Amino acid sequence: MDNCIFCKIVAKQIPASVVYEDDDLLAFKDINPAAPVHLLVIPKQHVATLSDCTEEHTAMLGKMLALAPKLAAEHGINVKTGADGQRSGGFKTLINSGPDGGQEVYHLHLHVYGGARPWRGLGT
Ligand code: 5GP
Ligand code: ZN
Repeated sequence: MDNCIFCKIVAKQIPASVVYEDDDLLAFKDINPAAPVHLLVIPKQHVATLSDCTEEHTAMLGKMLALAPKLAAEHGINVKTGADGQRSGGFKTLINSGPDGGQEVYHLHLHVYGGARPWRGLGT
């Protein structure tokens, strides 16, 4: 898609700090992180917004979400369970959709946030 910044990242026309790539997905660091770890997971194929997704996108959406815990583990923000059963760590996943959803870049992306708090503008 012309003039889509994330398509240009997929095409390596503009640089990004890529943390994962396969045939279908790309994940990279957000340029303006709101948390110590702030990653974006995108489909390589241009889809503007979650609002455009239907059942035919189920596999791709599943892959995007399933990648989040793998990336979280690689970046030390996965949920950990101590010997006493207490959980620590963890991360937040978010997809903004449309103007009312706070979407700024119209190429579908899943945010993955984690690390020491506070996180900018993300509440609890
Ligand atoms: P949205 O508000 O659309 O859910 O989030 C868009 C995100 O993309 C923002 O967190 C913003 O910092 C990030 N972003 C925008 N342009 C670029 C870019 O050129 N490179 C990278 N790595 N992130 C970007
Ligand atoms: Zn795009």
